[in-house]
Amino acid sequence: MATLNKVEQAKAGFCGLDLAPRLSELSAAGWESLDEATLTIHLKWLGIFFRPVTPGRFMLRLRLPNGVIHADQLDVLAEAVDRCGSHGSADITTRQNIQLRGLLLEDMPPLMAALERVGLTSRQSGHDNPRNVTGNPLAGIDPEEFIDTRPLVDRIQAAVLGPDGPRNLPRKFNVAVGGAPDSFLLHNDLAFLPAFHDGTLGFTVMVGGFFSAQRNELAIPLGLWLQADQLPAFTLAVLRHYERQGDRSNRNKTRLMYLIDALGLDCYRAEVVESYGAVAGADAAALVPHDGSHLVCRAPRDICGVHAQKQPGLHWVGLHVPMGRLHADGMGDLARLARTYGSGGLRLSESQNALIADVPGDQLEALLAEPLLQQFRVDPGALAAEAVSCTGNRYCSFALIPTKSTAQAVVEELERRLEVPHGVRTHWTGCPNACGQPYMGSIGLMGAKARKDGEMVEAVKVFLGGSMAADPRLAELHDKGIPLSELPEALEQILVERFGARPRALPA
Ligand code: SF4
Repeated sequence: MATLNKVEQAKAGFCGLDLAPRLSELSAAGWESLDEATLTIHLKWLGIFFRPVTPGRFMLRLRLPNGVIHADQLDVLAEAVDRCGSHGSADITTRQNIQLRGLLLEDMPPLMAALERVGLTSRQSGHDNPRNVTGNPLAGIDPEEFIDTRPLVDRIQAAVLGPDGPRNLPRKFNVAVGGAPDSFLLHNDLAFLPAFHDGTLGFTVMVGGFFSAQRNELAIPLGLWLQADQLPAFTLAVLRHYERQGDRSNRNKTRLMYLIDALGLDCYRAEVVESYGAVAGADAAALVPHDGSHLVCRAPRDICGVHAQKQPGLHWVGLHVPMGRLHADGMGDLARLARTYGSGGLRLSESQNALIADVPGDQLEALLAEPLLQQFRVDPGALAAEAVSCTGNRYCSFALIPTKSTAQAVVEELERRLEVPHGVRTHWTGCPNACGQPYMGSIGLMGAKARKDGEMVEAVKVFLGGSMAADPRLAELHDKGIPLSELPEALEQILVERFGARPRALPA
């Protein structure tokens, strides 16, 4: 048997969920008294992240299935951030999720109780766990959707967090459900894409997508088609198989695609079908072979702006949240606007933006006049709307550059200089771990170091050509080190030469 890597050794025989009843005791003892494995590994089973950049100030990552959140829930999060004073903030993540920053360990027990009261959880949101399950951000209100992904995503989360769910995966695991023509999801370990079989709408299964410092892959067809009802048990079957069979010796070669490589796709499929039989029982409908064709055919929509919902007379109002960064007052205002002008329902997108749902036509004018919409605009520029960024060096010790602030400043500068005729997705990430998904961007930017005037300076690697459209592909390396001081000029040239941007006319 292969030797367990160090993390596996630390996880063996102890599940971080067992810390839940001891959280008050641990926080009373003080974070400095905790051993390294508790602090940096096991607490993540509760969604609690020790941040070496801000020792003593923790991050809490929630689970928001399908990116759905209600104003009452957002209020609870806003209060938690507000109590952290100048340390507090929150980020909308690329998994339609929210993570809170600046919390003390002693904040956690009352916050966990408050989350539970409003139907939220942070359980198993970090480390080697199945991460927030994503879906169509417009599910249920989308005139273009094939199927409402919300109930499916909710059922998958319930199965994954339930008593039969995995507790000790070899690595993190991303699951997503597509429901619309623009549900690009091939960056997930397991993605269900809407597809027909014999005239019935169901899902084809895609497996093995992931980004890392070592390897980047788009998911490939597994060759199976499922009815909607089969998704939760099938997800559980895949996770249990991965928990049993995934490699635990080398963490750099442990994501699902490595297991598929090791077994071969046919053998992997056969083993997953067997695992499904064990999970779903003898009465479950058979899994159907499928060629992998599906209904997803174009890149995700920009959700910003005012759009008619499928419900007559109602609209969603998509707001651009710059780099996904929120503060307590903005969160509170967002909740108030959702309640005042809509049903209280809000959604988060993978592009780190937010939308207010269910706004009647006669409320639009008043909503659009709210001061918050000067900050979170409905009409951001073509670059700002879909600029995605990881955390960067304010909170992440791996970051080689201040990702969010650099992205914000460069995008603003480029929009001052250029007219860009259509949306250009820029994905900014602080290091090769690729949390900002640089390979998915039309332009991907990754923190790096480069030599300038004889000195090492902050820089980015630039990747070009990523596409989430009908013919998806990963962006490829274009330049391995542009100093940040030269970045606006370099990107200006790329935007003019490759994306049809034109210099703005100077004011007379
Ligand atoms: Fe941190 Fe790197 Fe991930 Fe950015 S990409 S959040 S810098 S680990």
